[in-house]
Amino acid sequence: MAKKKFHFNPETLSYEQIEHTITHWLKQVLIHALSGVFLGFIFFFVFVSTIQSPQERKLGQDKTHMEAQYRVLQRQLEEMQYVMTDLQQRDDNLYRVVFQADPISLAVRRGSSANTEYYEQLLDMTNSEVVMSTTKKLNELKKELYIQSKSYDELILLAKNKEAMLQCLPAIQPVLNKDLTRMASGYGWRIDPVYHSRRFHAGMDFTAPIGTDIYATANGTVQSTGWQQGYGNCVQINHGYGYLTLYGHMSAIKVRPGQKIKRGDVIGLVGSTGKSTGPHVHYEVHYKGTVMNPQNYYYLDLSPADYDRMVQMSNNAGQMFD
Ligand SMILES: [Zn+2]
Repeated sequence: MAKKKFHFNPETLSYEQIEHTITHWLKQVLIHALSGVFLGFIFFFVFVSTIQSPQERKLGQDKTHMEAQYRVLQRQLEEMQYVMTDLQQRDDNLYRVVFQADPISLAVRRGSSANTEYYEQLLDMTNSEVVMSTTKKLNELKKELYIQSKSYDELILLAKNKEAMLQCLPAIQPVLNKDLTRMASGYGWRIDPVYHSRRFHAGMDFTAPIGTDIYATANGTVQSTGWQQGYGNCVQINHGYGYLTLYGHMSAIKVRPGQKIKRGDVIGLVGSTGKSTGPHVHYEVHYKGTVMNPQNYYYLDLSPADYDRMVQMSNNAGQMFD
């Protein structure tokens, strides 16, 4: 049986019994229950945040190990990158030079490591930084490897076509040595034969009697024939691989545009048409749109002694025939 409770009433000077209502009891129960739950939560969170379970400890160790492994992977990747750079340099500075292919620009080699969305996805994960940089390095290396292997494919093709390519490089004189009356002026700054002022001579002049055969200096396709201001009757041959040769002042043209030509084919006869002061061939070699010194393109038909003689004569700073 529940104990009865009393309180002293000073006005009546007597003890009066306290009557508890059901609402009072309910309130009491609720207060105790709520404070119990509240304290329970506090203890639970303190426990969870400070004390690790064996599983959590294991996970923590795994994470440390994984990070260490990623760092090892990264170091290996850096070593591979170093080897890759060496391959790229040898490719650009040696192999591609041998086959006269342009070096591959750094922008193409490195590429835009553009797929940032992919990396951002990784960022949301734990361990993100080390995983992200490893993934990024791997992707870059993958792309560089691909470009490098493409470059080797191209070089293999060039090597297979090397024979054909050599046939297309200007490599002889346009007039036979025996037909030359004398070597005229070479490439460089010379005195203009008409205006007697210094002017850049973009080709080499070979003097020979009118009607002497003029030879194509390499395989190719006739690009243009006909009269050209200054050059007179003129033939231009496109040899591919960036090479073009030009022959001026002809008395007769023996080819037509579009015609396939082999090295040594007669393309015209020596004359003195256009701006010219005597029978000669004006011969130019262009490589990728830039005019070159033709004296570097006679390696097939000149002995070392002949070559020296030609260089000496063509380097004279005297008059040219234009
Ligand atoms: Zn000339």
